[in-house]
Amino acid sequence: MKILVCIRQGLDGEINPFDACAYEAALQIKGAEVTVMSMGPQNAKDFLLRLTRLGAKKAILLSDKAFAGADTIATAYTLSLAVKKLSPDLIFCGRQTLVGDTAQTGPMLSVYAETSLITNVMSIDEIGESITCTTRDMGIQTAKLPALITVERINTLRLPSIMSKLGEVEVWSAEDIGADIEKCGLKGSPTRVLKTYENYSGKRKCKLITAEELDGVINEALKKNREKVSVAKSDIKLNRVFIVGDEPYSFAETVSDDITVLEKTDAETIAETIKAQKPNAVLWASDAWSKETAAKVAAMVDLGLCADCTTLETDGEQLIMYRPALSGSIIAKIVSLTKPAMATVRTAKSGGDIVVAAGWGAKDSLDTVKAFAQRIGADIATTRKAVDNNILPYSMQVGLTGKTVSPPVYIAVGISGAVHHIVGMQQAGTVIAVNPDKDAPIFDYADYGIIGNCDILK
Ligand SMILES: Cc1cc2nc3c(=O)[nH]c(=O)nc-3n(C[C@H](O)[C@H](O)[C@H](O)COP(=O)(O)OP(=O)(O)OC[C@H]3O[C@@H](n4cnc5c(N)ncnc54)[C@H](O)[C@@H]3O)c2cc1C
Repeated sequence: MKILVCIRQGLDGEINPFDACAYEAALQIKGAEVTVMSMGPQNAKDFLLRLTRLGAKKAILLSDKAFAGADTIATAYTLSLAVKKLSPDLIFCGRQTLVGDTAQTGPMLSVYAETSLITNVMSIDEIGESITCTTRDMGIQTAKLPALITVERINTLRLPSIMSKLGEVEVWSAEDIGADIEKCGLKGSPTRVLKTYENYSGKRKCKLITAEELDGVINEALKKNREKVSVAKSDIKLNRVFIVGDEPYSFAETVSDDITVLEKTDAETIAETIKAQKPNAVLWASDAWSKETAAKVAAMVDLGLCADCTTLETDGEQLIMYRPALSGSIIAKIVSLTKPAMATVRTAKSGGDIVVAAGWGAKDSLDTVKAFAQRIGADIATTRKAVDNNILPYSMQVGLTGKTVSPPVYIAVGISGAVHHIVGMQQAGTVIAVNPDKDAPIFDYADYGIIGNCDILK
């Protein structure tokens, strides 16, 4: 069994956290011959060499000037050529990188490398002629080998033992993999970042309330129509905008009066429809199916795809897409050089009307928080710190390395308000924060605040 693990080095020089989980998952498969592969500059050689100490005998660095500046499509194309040369039985990718944060490269690579695909893998249940995995949002899935899987944060990458040996790193250039350099790097990248701004989008004016006022505030918030992030409608409109499923409608109507809803069928059918009907833009929701299928369709039609847009604009010709980047600290303004422009938009997840998120500060009061959530009919969510310390399960984690939620009411209890958490909840309708520290950043992102500890929920 040959397993190829695709790895990206983060800005901190370390392995991207989701890729670390993919690598560990591969190393845990008995009898597997594991190879790690990364696309990056020459100096990533040492980074890969260090990783060979954990178990991969071989590492491959795809490095060439022509590869620089690649977006997800160009990256997937380049990786796919190396995959074809290596012909592994399985390819493991992390769910997403923290630099790009799109979760697109894995599904795109599966199209170019002609493998089957399972995304958001929580556990690998069986491997034979096919692979069966439990996924985060789409149940148990089976895919025939060769297959590509994208892995969630399901384990911790082992440390090297003192006895461990270094493997070898091969460096492959564009020529070595027979790449068409027009399709690599910046040249081959259809999405262009025009500008970046500091991200103030989640900031709100916080009104302090008392514990006694809490129930009234929740009821009022539920009555209010949910606030939408992209309410500003462009005066000039874009013709022929397709949306896949109904969910992106509120985004589409900010840029177009000419909207066609496509059925959520299979990627091949949608790709054919887009090729035949040539719309100006195609918008997708942000559920697991939409994100995976959008990436596959983008690769099938060779189109740029912008992930997780929070606002759209148009000048009548182009779709201008805004999305959070670099852990949500900046907003990037992006256009696509290919037509139709394609984007996934941060649509509301289905689920309850109220989410109560219990952070690290609620660790000793979980029973109180759970009883409160039950009383008001809320779903429970949490932060990464609580997950990493086994207080609550990963499936509940909201934020950059968890999930995105946008319920009408989000109640953050014992949460400091780190930017990594905020990006996952900033589209909630009304945000209420409970925290004894009046200077906690969460109050900058809340409409209502109670300065107090978890006991006020009793
Ligand atoms: C690459 C990367 C990715 C990350 N991804 C995510 C992510 O997806 N999601 C995420 O959430 N985080 C993520 N993080 C972690 C994030 O940076 C924060 O560390 C984390 O969100 C903090 O969790 P917290 O607010 O629960 O805990 P803390 O920051 O420790 O805050 C606890 C809060 O509880 C308050 N408190 C204390 N006692 C009480 C009490 N009795 N009652 C009520 N409140 C109390 C304190 O005043 C404090 O404000 C990521 C970090 C990195 C580096």
